[in-house]
Parts: sequence; C-alpha cells; structure tokens
Amino acid sequence: MLKDIFIGLSQNQFLNNAAKKYGLKMGAQSVVAGTNIDEVIKSIKELNAHGISCTVDNLGEFVFKEEEATEAKEQILKVIEAIHEHNVDAHISLKPTQLGLDIEYSFCLSNLREIVDRANNYGIFVNVDMEDTGHLQPTFDVLDELSKEYDNVGTVIQAYLLRADEYLEKYKNFRMRIVKGAYKEPAEYAYQNKKDIDANFIKLIEWHLVNGKFTSIATHDHNVINHVKEFVKKNNIPNEQFEFQMLYGFRKDMQLQLAKEGYNFCTYVPFGNDWYGYFMRRLAERPQNLNLVAKQVLNK
Ligand code: FAD
Repeated sequence: MLKDIFIGLSQNQFLNNAAKKYGLKMGAQSVVAGTNIDEVIKSIKELNAHGISCTVDNLGEFVFKEEEATEAKEQILKVIEAIHEHNVDAHISLKPTQLGLDIEYSFCLSNLREIVDRANNYGIFVNVDMEDTGHLQPTFDVLDELSKEYDNVGTVIQAYLLRADEYLEKYKNFRMRIVKGAYKEPAEYAYQNKKDIDANFIKLIEWHLVNGKFTSIATHDHNVINHVKEFVKKNNIPNEQFEFQMLYGFRKDMQLQLAKEGYNFCTYVPFGNDWYGYFMRRLAERPQNLNLVAKQVLNK
C-alpha cells in the first residue's frame, strides 16, 4: 500500500519538476551525494579512501525533449572527464530514458555511443541501468548495438522478471549487475511476492557466478549477502569475479565492513538536482527510510 503510494509519487512529473528548483530536501541529502560534480567527486574520494569503488549516476527522469537529453549527455561526459582527471576509482551508471529513449531510439543510441566511446578512451566502464518493462527490450537492443564496438558496457537483470533467467543466459558474456527490481510491474511480467523474488534472485546470482562474466550483486539484504559469501567459498569463486553493490547512504557500516573483509565493494553514488523520483523509489522499497525524512525535519 505505502509502496504503491511512493511509486505513484515517484512518477509525478509536476512534483519532480518542482523538486528540482529547491535543492536537496526532505532528507534526500542522506542518499544523494550532492547536486554538482565537485560534490560527487568529494564523496567518491571519501569512499575510495575506505577501499570502496563507486558507480556514479547523474540523476535524471522524465526526459521528453531533445535539449534535455543532450544536456544530460554533456553532463555525463563531464563526469567521465572528472573521474579521469581526479584519477578516482569510479565508473558510470546511466538510464537510457535520460538520454532520449522515449524520444527516439536512434537518438538515444547515438548519445550513449558518445558516452561509451569517451569512457572507453579512459578505460571506464558504463552500466546501462534497467528501468521498467516498457523499456526492457530497447535497452537490450542498445546493449547489443554497443557491444559490437565496445566491451566497456554492461547492464542489469531484475530478479522479479519471470524471464530473467533467459536474459541472464543470453547476456552471460557481459559484466552484469543483478538486482531484485525497483519498479511496479504486472503479474504478466514479474513475480509479485517477496519470497518468489528472493528465491529467483539467489538462483540468478549463483548461476551467473558460475557461468557468467563479472557479477555485481546489488542488494542491502544481509541474508542474500551471507548466502553469497558461503556460496563463493564452497565453489572456489575468487573475489576478483564479483563485487557487492549498495546505494549511497544505505547500511554504511555494512558497506565498510564488506570492504574491510576484502570483498570488492562498489557504492552507487547518485547526484544532481533531479533527485525526487530516485528518492521516492527508495521510500517505496523501504518505508523505514521515512526516518531519514523525520530526522532531517527535526534537525531543522
Ligand atoms: P530488500 O528486499 O529491500 O530488503 C531485504 C531485507 O534487507 C530487508 O527486509 C531488511 O532486513 C534488509 N535491509 C534492506 N535495506 C536495509 C537498510 N537500509 N537498512 C537495514 N536493513 C535493510 N533496480 C532496478 O530496477 N534497476 C536498476 O538498475 C537497479 N540498480 C540498482 C543498483 C544498486 C547498487 C542497488 C543496491 C539497487 C539497484 N536497484 C535497481 C534497486 C533494486 O532492484 C531493489 O529495488 C533494491 O535494492 C531493494 O532491494 P534489496 O535487494 O536491497 O533488498
């Protein structure tokens, strides 16, 4: 119920536009690493100092105008330059809709190609995040196209998808992030209850660790993390073959602990003015995150 409310709010374009004008509010600053490149580089350096690498997301939603998609592309290119210039341990995460997937497929592909090409010059990886099922096939199509020219690109498999195993097998030669899935999807396409999603998540992770290229296990779920630790030990899977990922600001102690234990750890670091939809989806996943909002309000 609460989840549906926050997912609904995340899709409210009016509130999204309004939020952009007012800077980080409502506790969003706890989970969004600033509004500009200087701030995000500072956060990356702090995480790198603890042995944690980063994937940087220049937040952006509801892009229906070419100028906005071009602006997003330029900003991501600047982030790539900044990663290179500051020599920080970081790569890029981006959403195809931000680069114009809802405007025109070929326009989005050309924007993405420019980004992947620039990143490739510096040996920087680009992860194409997965959005709702309406964008699933075109996102895989973009990946198919780019992989003909570049190998510094990968994507995400969402365990709630009924066909997730097919996708994972098809894309086993890509560096792959595996997640539970963040959008509201119909039963026609996705498992609806937590038990089924969790079981599929474990199944996909195990399969990819054994059969796939590099695996990013993106979750805050300690049960899954503990299971993976046991699984890799039992199956002699070296640490170089996988990493754990969590979102910036979540389970900070566990992030530090996993890095300290010697596991590859990567924090997903979002930044920018377009924080509203991202923040609402985090509240949808875990209404306890409302504590962040309450603390922020009380501190004022
Ligand atoms: P949940 O099912 O939310 O939580 C499981 C259990 O873990 C909880 O019951 C609780 O016991 C514990 N727990 C969880 N969070 C906390 C916390 N903050 N503090 C204490 N305990 C906690 N989704 C997409 O659809 N596309 C993407 O491209 C995508 N990229 C992602 C990248 C990263 C790095 C991460 C971490 C997530 C990404 N997601 C993406 C979101 C993902 O799909 C899930 O919606 C989200 O991670 C919530 O699921 P979970 O696995 O963290 O565990």
